Amino acid sequence: MQKDDFSKSYVVEGKLALPYTYFAGRLGSTFLTTIRDQQKIMGVRCNQCSKVFVPPRQTCERCLSDIRENWVTLENTGEVINFTVVREHDKHLPRKTPYILGMIRLDGADTPMVHIIEGVNPESVSEGMRVKAVFAAESEGTILEIDHFIIS
Ligand SMILES: [Zn+2]
Repeated sequence: MQKDDFSKSYVVEGKLALPYTYFAGRLGSTFLTTIRDQQKIMGVRCNQCSKVFVPPRQTCERCLSDIRENWVTLENTGEVINFTVVREHDKHLPRKTPYILGMIRLDGADTPMVHIIEGVNPESVSEGMRVKAVFAAESEGTILEIDHFIIS
């Protein structure tokens, strides 16, 4: 058999279940538990650039200041700045397809967060639409503590 001759290779297909856990990080933990326990969405502010990041981050992307302690509470409302329609089904997706996944800039934030948008047909969603967070009735322990954003 030549070095690159794979024609006689026999391939066995299979699937692995791969449960996992990971540390959400110090800021990520505060971000998620504040949503879960207080239904408040928090970001961090760079006082040098006057820029508010959500989800929170430790360092300003512009000036590299350490901003991890500069928590600010954001509004539960915001604007759709971009979106896509998820049409390909996969059992791991959080919704039955088709559904809308949007980039949402919360009021008071300068960066967008990605989340599910409901209350509008995928054919009718557009940039600039106003949305409001709908919190989950039961804890998910993930960003799905915000169940979705609804067109307001
Ligand atoms: Zn900065």
